[in-house]
Amino acid sequence: MNVIGIEGTAHTFSVGIFNGREILSLSSKAFRPEKGGIHPREAADHHASVSGEIIREAMEKSGLNAEDIELVAFSQGPGLGPCLRVAATVARTISIYRNIPIVGVNHCIAHMEIGKLLTGARDPVMLYASGGNTQVIALAGGRYRVFGETMDIGIGNMLDKFARESGIPFPGGPEIEKLALRGEKYLPLPYSVRGMDVSFSGLLTAALHLRKRERAEDIAYSIQETAFAMLTEVTERAMAHLEKDEVLLGGGVACNKRLREMVKTMAEERGAGFHAPDCKYCVDNGAMIALLGHRMYEAGCRMKIEDTVVRQRFRTDEVDVIWD
Ligand code: AMP
Ligand code: MG
Repeated sequence: MNVIGIEGTAHTFSVGIFNGREILSLSSKAFRPEKGGIHPREAADHHASVSGEIIREAMEKSGLNAEDIELVAFSQGPGLGPCLRVAATVARTISIYRNIPIVGVNHCIAHMEIGKLLTGARDPVMLYASGGNTQVIALAGGRYRVFGETMDIGIGNMLDKFARESGIPFPGGPEIEKLALRGEKYLPLPYSVRGMDVSFSGLLTAALHLRKRERAEDIAYSIQETAFAMLTEVTERAMAHLEKDEVLLGGGVACNKRLREMVKTMAEERGAGFHAPDCKYCVDNGAMIALLGHRMYEAGCRMKIEDTVVRQRFRTDEVDVIWD
C-alpha cells in the first residue's frame, strides 16, 4: 500500500512516501525566520506556500503517479496550532479530492516507529530530543509511555535560544556543536534532574550570564556536556527500571555527534544495543508520518474527516499501540 505522509508540527513542512516496506522519497523545507524565534503564524504561512512544491517533489522522486497513492497520513499533534492546521488541511484536501482514507498520527510515536524500522531496534527506550520535545519513551502495557521529560523547554529550544542571544541564526544546535569542538575548559552549569525529569531554563540563564567573561567555545562545550549528561542519566535510569536492553535516539538534537557518543558509551557499559537513524530521519520528516499511518491503517484504524481535528497537546501515551 502506497502512503503519503504530511508533516507540519513546527518549523518543517515535509512529505514522505512509503510503500509499506520501504521509504520511496522524502522532501522537506524548513522555515527560517529572518530574525528572532519561530512565530507559529509565520511558520504556518511558510508551510502553506511551499506545500504544493514539496508534494510535487516527493511524488516525482518516488516514481509514483497520484493515482498510486492509497492512503494519506498526517501529523495530528503535538505541535503549534497554526502549523498543524495547515498540514491537516493539506491532508484532508488530498483525501477528499482523491477519495482515499486519511489517518492522523502522533508525531512523537512516528519518531519511534521510523527509528525502529531503520535501525532494527525491537523494544527500545527512546530518547526523543528535539526542538520542542524532550522525552524518554518506551512501550509498556500496550502504550508508548513517557518515563521522563522536560519540565520546561525542549533541549533543542534551549540550544536555539542560547544561539539566538549570541547572534547565531536558527537552528542553533548545529553551530553550538561546531563551537563545542573547540572548547577547552568545562564551566559548571546547573544540572537539573528531578527524578526522571529534566529542566533546561536554569542552565540557559546561567550559560547566557557566562558570555560576559568566558569564551563562546567553552560555554558551548559546557552546555553540551551538562545537558547531554542529564539526558543520558534519565535514559539510563529508564532502561534499568524497565529492564530494556536497547536505546534508540530520535529528534533533531539526536543529529549531534557528542550526544550520540555519550548515549552509545552508556549503552555499551550496560551491554545494551545502541541505535540512531540517519540524521535526515531524526529531524521532523514526512516519511515517519507515512510509516506510522500505514502501521495504524493496516491494524484497522479508520478516521472520518471529523476525527482529523488537530491536537496541539496530543500526548504520546494517549494512543493504543494496536499495530505492534
Ligand atoms: P526537530 O524539532 O526534531 O526537527 O529538530 C530541530 C532541533 O534540532 C533544533 O532545535 C536544532 O537546533 C536541533 N539540532 C539539529 N541538529 C543539531 C545538532 N547537530 N546538534 C544539536 N542540535 C541540533
Ligand atoms: Mg519532532
